Amino acid sequence: MVVNIGVLGFQGDIEEHVEAWRNASEELGVKTNVLLVKKAEQVKQIDAISIPGGESTVIGSLSERMRVMGALKEAILGGLPTLGTCAGLIVLAKRSKDAVVTEKTQPLLGVMDVEVERNHFGRQNDSFEADLKIPVLGEKPFRAVFIRAPIITRTGPGVEVLAEMEDGIVAARQANIVSTAFHPELSGDTRFHKYFLKDVAKLV
Ligand code: GLN
Repeated sequence: MVVNIGVLGFQGDIEEHVEAWRNASEELGVKTNVLLVKKAEQVKQIDAISIPGGESTVIGSLSERMRVMGALKEAILGGLPTLGTCAGLIVLAKRSKDAVVTEKTQPLLGVMDVEVERNHFGRQNDSFEADLKIPVLGEKPFRAVFIRAPIITRTGPGVEVLAEMEDGIVAARQANIVSTAFHPELSGDTRFHKYFLKDVAKLV
């Protein structure tokens, strides 16, 4: 069996997501076909999807303009396993606020019952790395890369917190949806992707 994984292909660190899926599936011994999703009809061809980090306003507006937003929303609500990293987390969230320009509306899928604050860590300290405790990945800390990262400020009742820092929640799961404020695709550690493929998407 070949597993089809989509990466929303409009903007952001798309290639890094493709690479991370390839590495994780190879390590798990799963045959994977990774495709860039840019059209609504492609949403029907995939078993899981990831939404990259980048600029959430651009990813959201292009998804809307290219008419992928509606199909994707329906699929995720119907159970499509979905991983959103950084900007991807913002696009999946019910509500977003910007730490700099507080009330700014942007097109969101709105499928995950969380509220996020964009650019939480500000401009002066907009990139850093931290060792996180992520219990679903085991004992060994996970080196997490944060780039102009958001933070989760509120979670609904169906949302499980996967990782937290002093500032707030940085990884969470709601059934088939997993989101991170950091970039697991950039750390070279495939544990997060393997967890997603095995425990969330159940494709292994
Ligand atoms: N600051 C970006 C946004 O608000 C997210 C940054 C990232 O994905 N690395 O969309």
